[in-house]
Amino acid sequence: MTNPNVELSSAYQTILKVVEQVEPRIAAATRAELTDQRASLKLIASENYASLPVLATMGTWLSDKYAEGTVGHRFYAGCQNIDTVESVAAEHARELFGAEYAYAQPHSGIDANLTAFWAILANKIEGPALTEFGAKTVNDLTEADWATLRKRFGEQKMLGMSLDAGGHLTHGFRPNISGKMFDQRSYGTDPTTQLLDYDQIATAAREFKPLILVAGYSAYPRRINFAKMKEIADEIGAVFMVDMAHFAGLVAGKVFKGEEDPIPYADVVTTTTHKSLRGPRGGLVMAKEEYAPSVDRGCPLVLGGPLSHMMAAKAVALAEARTPAFQEYAQNVADNAKSLAEGLMSRGSKLVTDGTDNHIVLLDVSSFGLTGRQAESALLDAGVVTNRNSVPSDPNGAWYTSGVRLGTPALTSRGFGAAEFDRVAELIVEVLTNTEAAMASTGKPGKAKYTIADGVADRVKAATDELLDAHPLYPGLEL
Ligand SMILES: *Cc1c(COP(=O)(O)O)cnc(C)c1O
Repeated sequence: MTNPNVELSSAYQTILKVVEQVEPRIAAATRAELTDQRASLKLIASENYASLPVLATMGTWLSDKYAEGTVGHRFYAGCQNIDTVESVAAEHARELFGAEYAYAQPHSGIDANLTAFWAILANKIEGPALTEFGAKTVNDLTEADWATLRKRFGEQKMLGMSLDAGGHLTHGFRPNISGKMFDQRSYGTDPTTQLLDYDQIATAAREFKPLILVAGYSAYPRRINFAKMKEIADEIGAVFMVDMAHFAGLVAGKVFKGEEDPIPYADVVTTTTHKSLRGPRGGLVMAKEEYAPSVDRGCPLVLGGPLSHMMAAKAVALAEARTPAFQEYAQNVADNAKSLAEGLMSRGSKLVTDGTDNHIVLLDVSSFGLTGRQAESALLDAGVVTNRNSVPSDPNGAWYTSGVRLGTPALTSRGFGAAEFDRVAELIVEVLTNTEAAMASTGKPGKAKYTIADGVADRVKAATDELLDAHPLYPGLEL
């Protein structure tokens, strides 16, 4: 095939011209977003650039079909093509990850987790209750049985990684429904090494005895040993769930192998498809066979009708992820993170855990005398897009923070290599050493205000433009 970007160029021009006639502001915003994405040095660890074949697959009439249910068991007639789409997506997911079972319907990572939690509750709480109440299905339960069951659902416990150590809101924290469903406790990291301490997790698990032990993170710059986590879960009879939303691309690309690959160890694995996996915005659940019937209840239990166009795009992205080119990308993501980390540390920066072995670098900006908020804003002024993030036991809390999270997937997709990431490190340090916390109106050092020395932001912006020009986004696509 010739360059798909060139092939799709005229198609996108036509599409935008047609959209323009209906709602010009949307056509304009779509064009502007491409310009902005092309001009931004994107270090947001959860973002990426899906291929144009993936993006193009989303924009079709597959969206027009209702297909509640599962492949071959739909509540609507005429779902033969949707069955094909969903089967192909699930097949690619199973083959790519070596999973026993895959469910391609979740609309996002949060939805995948909610599907997983209820599948686990169905297997561990609802199923045994049916037997106890002498019921074949939930329809046979009396009102009194239901009242008992509802209470049991609400009494379950979850143990996950603490937010300030890099865990995710959906692992039992209050802003997410999981924090209202479950009695949650969390494990942190070792105060000295900032690494997961499996002995400490085992102690917490023995004490708390959760129904679900969750592993997974969105801001932890290290790999997890899933064999050790599984051992802990087995010892206390917990279900072991892994949320690999952030690092699925590294699992798919075989960078995380053996005990670092969650699939053989976890009962249920959830992921997003749009982060390091580089697919469309969406979610996936994979599971051991025994959980399959419960996971299949995701829609309509907690999910709205399947987004068939998105499942189609997931299938295309997963097909791409099965190629050698994707494995090379995944290895580069990890190598580039190392280069970025070393580039920062060799120039005097402090990193959480003193390095990385995944796609994330967590920069502790307190050594620059800044909060995460100040550092994030100053970097943005210089064209470097990051997001502020807590560091373990953060003295500045979750709003101002003391850290900045950096990730390599997006720029790796643009073709940045180790040398470019070393240059990025140099530019980040240049901005931060030339930024000072400014006084707040109270007369004390502020947590949000800052000043950058004259000319630094412009100089760094010119340097980032040069890097971006050398690695164009969607080369060949002209709007
Ligand atoms: C991003 C993320 C999610 C949520 O994904 P959405 O698609 O935004 O709902 C869930 N879990 C983890 C670990 C994540 O990093």
